[in-house]
Amino acid sequence: MRHTRHGWWLEEAGDVTPTSPLEGETSADVVIVGGGYLGMWTAWQLLELEPNLDLVLLDASLCGHGPSGRNGGFCETLWPDIDTLRERSGDAAALAVGRASEEAVHGIGAWCAANEVDAWYRQAPMIRVATTESQLGSWDANVHACAAIGTQDEVVSIGASEVRAACDSPLFLGGARYRLNATVHPARLALGLRQKLLDRGVRVHERTEVTRLEKDGVVTTDGRVRAGATVLAVNSATARFPGYRLSLAVASSHIVLTEPVPDVVEELGWTGGEAIVDSRTLVHYMRTTNDGRIVFGWGGGRMGFDGRRSDRLELDPNVIRRTHASLHRFFPQLRGRSITHAWGGPIDVSPTHVPIFGSRDRVHHGFGFTGNGVGPSYLGGEILARLALDRRDELTRLAIVDPPRKLFPPEPFRYIGGSLIRRALARKDQAEDDGREPGVVTTFVASLPRRLGLRLPR
Ligand SMILES: Cc1cc2nc3c(=O)[nH]c(=O)nc-3n(C[C@H](O)[C@H](O)[C@H](O)COP(=O)(O)OP(=O)(O)OC[C@H]3O[C@@H](n4cnc5c(N)ncnc54)[C@H](O)[C@@H]3O)c2cc1C
Repeated sequence: MRHTRHGWWLEEAGDVTPTSPLEGETSADVVIVGGGYLGMWTAWQLLELEPNLDLVLLDASLCGHGPSGRNGGFCETLWPDIDTLRERSGDAAALAVGRASEEAVHGIGAWCAANEVDAWYRQAPMIRVATTESQLGSWDANVHACAAIGTQDEVVSIGASEVRAACDSPLFLGGARYRLNATVHPARLALGLRQKLLDRGVRVHERTEVTRLEKDGVVTTDGRVRAGATVLAVNSATARFPGYRLSLAVASSHIVLTEPVPDVVEELGWTGGEAIVDSRTLVHYMRTTNDGRIVFGWGGGRMGFDGRRSDRLELDPNVIRRTHASLHRFFPQLRGRSITHAWGGPIDVSPTHVPIFGSRDRVHHGFGFTGNGVGPSYLGGEILARLALDRRDELTRLAIVDPPRKLFPPEPFRYIGGSLIRRALARKDQAEDDGREPGVVTTFVASLPRRLGLRLPR
C-alpha cells in the first residue's frame, strides 16, 4: 500500500509543471489566495462576469494539491443541512440555499462538458445508510425539513431492501436517498480547472505563501500584490489569519482505496454510481471509481491546532488501519484483496456544519465546508466573484453569506476539547457497532457539541 500525502487521484491525473513563485511586487484587479476549488471557481466566475479582469492567484503549494485534489469526490448539494438552515434562517432562505446548491451540482457537470474536462462526472443519488439500530431514522429531521418546505422529493426514507438493491453490504439496515448528487474524479476536476485558468490568462504563482492580508492586497514570503479586492480561499489555513481564528476548527479525514475489484462491485450490485455515507457523527463514506475500485473514507482523524499544517492531518497510519478494518466490516468480500493507496487531509469545520461566505472590508472569504466542499465550492466561487466586484444579487443574498457569527473557543481549548470530544464520539460509534451501551461519561462528552450549539461533521 502506498500511503502518501497526495493519494491516488493526483497520481492518476498526472504531474503538472509548477508555475513560478511570485518574487517582488505586482498589482492586479483581484488577488485570490488559495488554488483549491474555491479559489479557482472564484477566478473562473470573475472572468465570466468580467472577461478582461487582471487576476493573480497565489497558492502556497500547487493548485489542486490540497483537499480539492484528494477528496472522496462526492459532489453534494446542501440539502443534508436543510434542517439547520431552516432553524437559523427560516424556510424561504433555506429553500433558496438548497436550490442554489443543486444548480452548483449541475453547474460542475455542465462546466466539465463545455470545457471538455473528463473529470468522471456522474450523477447518481447519494444514499445515507444506517449500520446500527441506533442510526435508523437519524435522517428523519432532514426528511421532515424537506417536506415542510415542499421539497419532499429531495430526501426520501428507504427500507433495507431498497438500500441493499443499490449496494448489498450486510451492514445496511435502511437509509435515506438524496435525489441529486454526483461523483467526480477530484484531481482531474481540480487540475482541469487550473489548466483552463492558465489558458484564460490568470497569473498563477504557485509555491507562494501569503503571510499577511493588508488593506490594499497581500504580502507573501518574497513579494506583495496590490489589488482592489482580495479573496481568501485557503480552507483550514483560514484559522491562521487574524480575525478568523475562532471562526472554524480543523479536523481530518482519511481514505483507503482498493485495487480494481469489478467482480466485487458487480456482486454487490453497486453499479449505479451511488455515493454512500453512514450515519455516524464521524462518518464513513464510500463510492466506486470508473476502473472498478472502491474508495472508502472515514472522518475520524485527529484535530488540527490553530489552522497549522501538521503531518498527522495528512498521514496517519493509525487512522488508516482503522479505516481499512472498517472497509472489511462493510464489505467482507474484500478480504484478500489489496489496498493500493491511502491518504488524508484537513477538514475546515464550520460551527454550524454549513459553509460561510462573506466580506470584511476588501477581503472576501469562504470556509467551513466541513467535508462537503466539492459541490458548494462552485456556488462559493459564484458568490465570492460577485462580492469581489461589489455586485449584489440573489446569490449574495443567500443565508450562507455573512450569517450571524458563531465562534469556536480559542486554542488550546479548541484543540484539547475537540480531541476529547472526537475520542468520545469514536467510542460511542464503536459501542453502537458492538451493540453495547456507550457509557454515561462517553455519552455526555459526545453530546457536548450539541449542548454548546455546535453541529459537527456527521
Ligand atoms: C480526505 C478528504 C475527503 C473529502 N471528501 C469529500 C467529498 O467526498 N466530498 C466533498 O464535498 N468534500 C470532501 N472533502 C472536503 C473537500 O475536499 C473540501 O471541502 C474542498 O476541497 C475545499 O476546497 P478549498 O478550495 O476550500 O480548499 P483546498 O483544496 O484546501 O485549497 C486551499 C488552497 O489554499 C492553499 N493555501 C493555504 N494557505 C495558504 C497561504 N497562506 N497562502 C497561499 N495559499 C495557501 C493551499 O495550498 C491549498 O491549495 C474531503 C476532504 C478530505 C481531506
